[in-house]
Amino acid sequence: MRIAVGALLFEGNTFSLSRTTIQDFQSHYFFEGEDFISSLRGGEIEVSGAISVLDAVGAEIVPLIATHGGCGGTVMRACFDELKNRLLARLDCGALDGVFLALHGAMICEGTENAEVELLEAVREKVGSVPIVITCDLHAHITPKMISLCDAIVGYEHYPHDDVFETGVRGAGLLVKAVSGSVKLSMQMKKLAMLVTPTMAGTRADTPMREAYKACRALESLPGILAVSYFPSTPWAERPDGGTAFVLVSDGRHALQDLIFERLCGDLWNERARFLPQLTTIDDALQEGKKIDAGPIILSEMSDAVGAGAAGDSAYLLQKYMTSGLTESFLVQIVDAGVVDLARARGVGAHIDCQLGNKVENRHGAPVSFSAEVLGFHDGAFIYSGGPMAGTSSTVGAAVVLRHKNIVVLVTSRPAYEYADEQYAAAGIDVRGFKFVVVKNPMNYRQAYSWAPRLYALDTPGAGRADLTKLEWRQCVRPFYPLDDSVTPIYRD
Ligand SMILES: [Zn+2]
Repeated sequence: MRIAVGALLFEGNTFSLSRTTIQDFQSHYFFEGEDFISSLRGGEIEVSGAISVLDAVGAEIVPLIATHGGCGGTVMRACFDELKNRLLARLDCGALDGVFLALHGAMICEGTENAEVELLEAVREKVGSVPIVITCDLHAHITPKMISLCDAIVGYEHYPHDDVFETGVRGAGLLVKAVSGSVKLSMQMKKLAMLVTPTMAGTRADTPMREAYKACRALESLPGILAVSYFPSTPWAERPDGGTAFVLVSDGRHALQDLIFERLCGDLWNERARFLPQLTTIDDALQEGKKIDAGPIILSEMSDAVGAGAAGDSAYLLQKYMTSGLTESFLVQIVDAGVVDLARARGVGAHIDCQLGNKVENRHGAPVSFSAEVLGFHDGAFIYSGGPMAGTSSTVGAAVVLRHKNIVVLVTSRPAYEYADEQYAAAGIDVRGFKFVVVKNPMNYRQAYSWAPRLYALDTPGAGRADLTKLEWRQCVRPFYPLDDSVTPIYRD
C-alpha cells in the first residue's frame, strides 16, 4: 500500500487587514523532504496520526509537504502557488494507492474562490481515481465541490482542538479501509444558513455543539456509518454560501441519510439562540474585576485573536486601561515590529517613547502614545503545549517587554496563533503575577486559564468580533442566522 501524506492548513479572515505570505507558514511548522517522516512520526498533529496508522499496516508513505500557516488575512497568490506547486511536485512519484491530506478548510486566498477546492482539483488530476481522504478543522467551510473531489472528509470532534492527532488517525483509518476494499466510501453533506460565533460553540461546555458532538458520536456506532462531522465554520472567513455543515461518510449510501441530516440540522437550528454571545464591556469588566480579591482577571479581547485571523496588534484595551485610572497591574500582548526595533536600538533599561499598536488594524483607534522602560528581550520562539499545532515550534519574532508604571506590554514582531500562555511564558512573564491579563483568543483561554478567578469575554471591535451582527457583511447571501431568523431551518442548497 503506497500512500501520499501531506498537510496544508490556514484559517483565513476576510474582515482582517493583514496579509499572509510564505514567512507566515515558515514561522509555524513546515516539513518537506528528508525530515518529513522522521520529524512527524511520534508527533501530535494530523500527519503524525496518519503516519501511526500507515506504519501499523506496513504502508509505504510518500511524503508531500506539511505546513500550517496559522490564521490571518488573505493568503497572497505567490504564497499559495508556491505551497501548492511544492505539494503537487511530490505527487510525481509513480503510482499511488491513496492520498491523505490534512487541510484546515477555511483558507482565503487571492485569485481563487476556494483554495482547498483548487488544491483538491489539482491533486485529483494528478492521482486519478484512487481514494483521497482529508481531515479538516471543524471551522472549515465545506462545499459540495469539496465533497465531490475527495472520498471522505473527517473533522476535528473537539473545540478547543485537542484531538488533532486523533483526527489524523481516524482519517487515515478510513483511507486504509477504502484502499484495502473493506468499505466503499460514500459522502454526503447538508448545510444550514447559520453562522455561530466560536466563543459560544465549544464542544466541552454546555452548548448546542456539545449536543451535536454527542449525536454524531452516537450515529457513528450504527452499522454502515463511518464518520459524522460538524463544521460550524469560522464566521470571519466570509463566503456567499457560508453556514454550518454536517458531513456523513458511510459504507455505501446510507438508507437513513436524509433522516439523519434532518435531525442533526433541526436540533441545532432549534437551539440557535444559545449561540448568541454573552459579552461584557471593558468598563464593566474592569469595575467588577477590581472588586475580586484575587487574580488574574482574564480579559479576552477575542476580536483581535490571531487565531481568528485578526492582526494581533490592537492597543484598544491598553488605551482603555491607561485612561481607566486603575493602579492594579495589567498585562497585554501587542504586535508591533517597529516598536521592537526601536527598543532594541536603545537596549535594556532604556526609556522609550513610542506609538504602539493599531497599525495593521487601524480602524478602531490610532496608535497609543506609550512611554515605557525596556525590561528585556526575547527571540520569540516557543513550543505549543496543545491545540492544532501541539508540540510544534513557532515564533512571534523578536520581542520586547515594556513597562509603564503598573502596565506591562509584551510587544512582538509577528502575530502567532495563541493556544495557552506559551508566548507570555517564553518571554519570562508569569501571568499569575498580574491583576488583569489580556488574552486574544475566543475559546482556548477558558481551558488555559480555567484556574483564574474570573474570565470575561469582551465586546470589543476588530476582525474577530464575537457579536456577528456588528460585522460589515458583504458576501454572505441572506437570509442567514443570526442576521435573519426563521422558525424552520434555513438551508444552503
Ligand atoms: Zn478551528
